[in-house]
Amino acid sequence: MNRFWSEMARRTEPYVPGEQLNRAGIIKLNTNENPYPPAPRVTEAILEAAQGLRLYPSPTADSLRRVIADTEGLGPEQVFTANGSDEVLAFSFMAFFGPGKAIRFPDVSYSFYPVYSNLFGVPFEEVPLRDDFSLDIEDFSGAGGVILPNPNAPTGIYEPLDGIRRILEGNPDCVVIIDEAYIDFAGPSAATLISEFDNLLVVRTTSKSRSLAGLRVGYALGHPGLIEGLVRIKDSFNSYTTDRLAQAGAEAAFRDMAYFEETTAKIVATRGRSAMRLAELGFTVLPSSANFLFCTHPQTDAGTLYEELKSRNILVRHFGKPRIKDFLRITVGTDEEMDKLFGALEEILNDFK
Ligand code: PMP
Repeated sequence: MNRFWSEMARRTEPYVPGEQLNRAGIIKLNTNENPYPPAPRVTEAILEAAQGLRLYPSPTADSLRRVIADTEGLGPEQVFTANGSDEVLAFSFMAFFGPGKAIRFPDVSYSFYPVYSNLFGVPFEEVPLRDDFSLDIEDFSGAGGVILPNPNAPTGIYEPLDGIRRILEGNPDCVVIIDEAYIDFAGPSAATLISEFDNLLVVRTTSKSRSLAGLRVGYALGHPGLIEGLVRIKDSFNSYTTDRLAQAGAEAAFRDMAYFEETTAKIVATRGRSAMRLAELGFTVLPSSANFLFCTHPQTDAGTLYEELKSRNILVRHFGKPRIKDFLRITVGTDEEMDKLFGALEEILNDFK
């Protein structure tokens, strides 16, 4: 600990993301990136936007917000954009959560939530998931705020909208954030409930289904009052937020619906096939509605599997948290990448027989 650190720096346990090894030949299935490139027009739009780099970007990202609003059937005043959904989440913590009554999130969910809670001094309670990793809806009622990923991460389990509605009804006086980073691989979005609940904020990203993890564009959808709260924070901390290249690239991605639908369908098909193959190899696989599979092998330690795969140039994710230490989270790659993974797993599991 450094003697110059502020109280905030001292109490913060930084989030450790999955390894970003990008050496040649590596099969990277550890941070839920999309295995397909962004829509073809994206690069062209970024190059065009680069002509204007001398100038600041639109601080309100008007053009991008309009195309997102049109895609969602909402008004632009119901859309907020920032640098990745991580920044949208950070702004949301600052705008809607504070000291006082604890916010709640599931005991297995996105590991950034406790990081932001500690950073911004927000008390929190982790609500245990049931044995099958599903949400215990009633346990979320009467909180000081709620945040949960749907589908959940890293389990991949999707909570149907009826459950989300009950969480909203049980929390009329605080903000409920549904983090839909993986919703495009799942069922209907909570965005359809925005017209009924002025305390619902839906947070999304272009990092997964739009193949733009490197561009850092996330967004929030909600009642104009909530969006206004986020804008106040944004204007104080980073008044231009998303840059010119990001705004142009993301807009081009949203304009190509056909490409988005095609690549998403391919990932969903590969996910189904991969879940079956993992089960044949003896894994227990949780039902996934995301672009990853969460699985455990009853006879083989997950840490060992992770290391063995890594030594074969295949990166997957292993979490240290006690409840999930026997699990691996495997991003759905291309069919070819998944076949290489299954070949390696077969070899490793045979060696351990
Ligand atoms: N929420 C969840 C549940 C995630 O898994 C991730 C990605 N790790 C994010 C938010 C952040 O995504 P990004 O900042 O790339 O938009």
